[in-house]
Amino acid sequence: MLTLFVFSMKYNKKLAPLLVKYKIYKNELINEINKIYKKYTKDGKFVITSNSLNRELKKIEPTIFKISNGLYEQEKNILPIILYLVNDEVYGKTYNILNKDSKDFKNMSKEEINKITTGFKISGKTNLQRIKDNKTIFNSKLNKDIKNSLKESKTIEDTKALIEDRFEKEMKIAMRLTNNEIARVYNATADVLYKQNGVRRVQWISQLEQNTCGECADLDQEIFDIEDAPIPIISTHTSCHCILVPID
Ligand SMILES: [Zn+2]
Repeated sequence: MLTLFVFSMKYNKKLAPLLVKYKIYKNELINEINKIYKKYTKDGKFVITSNSLNRELKKIEPTIFKISNGLYEQEKNILPIILYLVNDEVYGKTYNILNKDSKDFKNMSKEEINKITTGFKISGKTNLQRIKDNKTIFNSKLNKDIKNSLKESKTIEDTKALIEDRFEKEMKIAMRLTNNEIARVYNATADVLYKQNGVRRVQWISQLEQNTCGECADLDQEIFDIEDAPIPIISTHTSCHCILVPID
């Protein structure tokens, strides 16, 4: 069994183009903010009337929307691709482990794959819906950050730092969601095959690392009937790296 950690690292690399996009958009927005500061700074002091402030905020709104929506589009496209690849690799590898000599490889149906990858709901929402919600929140937070900064006549450095921080946080949210989904699909794919192949018992294997929570550490090495086994992430917590391996 591949450890989930190595697995996540490998598929994480596919996020590289998205991370570049974050950087490009962040610079674009800071550029626009620079222009506003330049326009309203006199004798080294930034002064803006509330009329001008409202006008500038209206003007920058479409840029902020373009950015949050652009990131949404990118994440919406990249996540299913990553999850299909994860499903495909875990399916192939687990299949071979469970059916050593069998030649009649059966693929998972498209419907089943979709159910596991993009169809699964956590708290009533699919991963793509959660991405959409995240970007809607990001959009409104960016608007608010900029509005408050300009209103309070913060220095350009402080405003830039605030925007950089907002992008940094959003990038982490996107990476966490992706990692979580990789782990979830890994486990869900293995589970389908275990059940298909009549696996009766599974063993919980925790990724024992510095920040393993007590709950997962306690579950480590425990053996369950497959029907009663807790499911990593779903039964534990986000960013859980635990897996179930077949016993008999
Ligand atoms: Zn865990």
